[in-house]
Amino acid sequence: MIQVYGREDVTCVEGKVVRSGRKEGTVYAFLVDGMLIDTGPKCLEADLIPFYEDNLIDLVTLTHSHEDHTGTASWIQENRNVPIYMHDKGISICAQPCSYPKYRQISWGVRNAFKALPLGDTIQSRSQEWKVIYTPGHADDHISLIHEETGRLFTGDLFLAPKTKVIMNSESIPLIMNSIRMLLSYDFGSIFCSHAGYIQDGKGMMKQKLNYLENLCGEVKNLHQEGLSIAEINKKLFQKKYPIIAVSEGEWDSLHIVTSIISDEKLTIAKR
Ligand SMILES: [Zn+2]
Repeated sequence: MIQVYGREDVTCVEGKVVRSGRKEGTVYAFLVDGMLIDTGPKCLEADLIPFYEDNLIDLVTLTHSHEDHTGTASWIQENRNVPIYMHDKGISICAQPCSYPKYRQISWGVRNAFKALPLGDTIQSRSQEWKVIYTPGHADDHISLIHEETGRLFTGDLFLAPKTKVIMNSESIPLIMNSIRMLLSYDFGSIFCSHAGYIQDGKGMMKQKLNYLENLCGEVKNLHQEGLSIAEINKKLFQKKYPIIAVSEGEWDSLHIVTSIISDEKLTIAKR
């Protein structure tokens, strides 16, 4: 099911994935000045096709290669003759049929392969120039897009929520923090998050998230210095066991938050 509405000249396409009456998740695609940003998951394709048929799309820019952002890119490639851009590192991933675990195939559908083109430092939509900012941490091929004149920022999956409780084993909290710091050096107001949607006080919320992560890092490092193991720190700081941990067989876990902070600390110490 999708809902379409406008915010600051951006068409927000809010997709809700429901399976056997249970809400699996919300994921957005955005259309701005003829540029489609992300393409939703494959399981929403039947809902998204009428939107693609009713709206003029000149080009597609993908924030990263995850299947809930790239699921209908193959449909667009086959049915609309428009270029699809993404970070260099995501191109070979998307040129292959889906290589992600079963539980994600069940949640989001099975993405088909498609051919993407590499993004440069900027990308031009119909009448606006967007700056492409490399923001790894959630994914190695993750980018954000900013239109500096109007202060609108598309953050892909970098924000999600102010308080991070679980991450994937491929993510890194220190890298996410660096990417947030990088974004905060720009002048922007609102953000468009691929799962939380339009956030008017985007800059304030981003600062809140960075603040939370900085405190968390401090706590993890202190406990580690006191001699606690990664498992013990995880148990102490993250008591709640979210269902996704079991469903994903540990691909998602709060443990990865602790691990990524400690391994970064070791790296910093080794560099001294
Ligand atoms: Zn993602």
